[in-house]
Amino acid sequence: MDAVVDHRTRAVEAGRRLEQASPQEVLRWAASTFGDRFVVSTSMGDGVLASLAGSVAPGVDVLFLDTGYHFPETLGTRDAVAQVYDVRVRTVLPLLAVAEQDAEHGPELWRRDPDACCALRKVEPLGRALEGYDAYATGIRRDESPTRAGTPVVEWDERRGKVKVNPLARWTQDDVDAYVAEHGILVNPLQHDGYPSIGCAPCTRRVGEGEDVRAGRWAGTPKTECGLHV
Ligand code: SF4
Repeated sequence: MDAVVDHRTRAVEAGRRLEQASPQEVLRWAASTFGDRFVVSTSMGDGVLASLAGSVAPGVDVLFLDTGYHFPETLGTRDAVAQVYDVRVRTVLPLLAVAEQDAEHGPELWRRDPDACCALRKVEPLGRALEGYDAYATGIRRDESPTRAGTPVVEWDERRGKVKVNPLARWTQDDVDAYVAEHGILVNPLQHDGYPSIGCAPCTRRVGEGEDVRAGRWAGTPKTECGLHV
């Protein structure tokens, strides 16, 4: 069996077997199966995934995609996560700085063509960063949006040819809040300022009372995902 087929089979089998497992058990499986070919990706909305990963796989690599458009609070959360948890944070940059992208594609591409902007500043950088790994973990959860409702705890990412691990898939917002409270986990300060879902500053607004948690992302456009998870 070649390595890709082997990993695909392994992912599907683990997705079934670990459906009822805790996030720690899912992360432990990934770390023991893939060793230093396993990496965690986080947008630094909080330190939950980094904390969990560092507790079961000390020193594990954590990727952060620095689009050049993040809120200062998000960059501060990244720096704090790197200090507090037992992980190695790797910041991944797009091929073009914002000024270079403006010169090549025109200013404020995010306003005119957010899919193209996300492709340049998120999707390509993640694909490039994952080249050295066989498996990666994300913090996506089923309760975040209808597009994420069917997220398996482990799946095969056909587009990237990697095992994708979603240890928090079964957790609800209440589970996250309870874990944060119990363990004193770092949280991006914007979460306490009306931003339950935090992306790039130009594409994220505050959410009003009773609105969906992701209503502030690309508000006023049909876009709901950056392209990393679809
Ligand atoms: Fe560009 Fe907005 Fe996507 Fe960030 S979220 S990469 S600014 S379109």
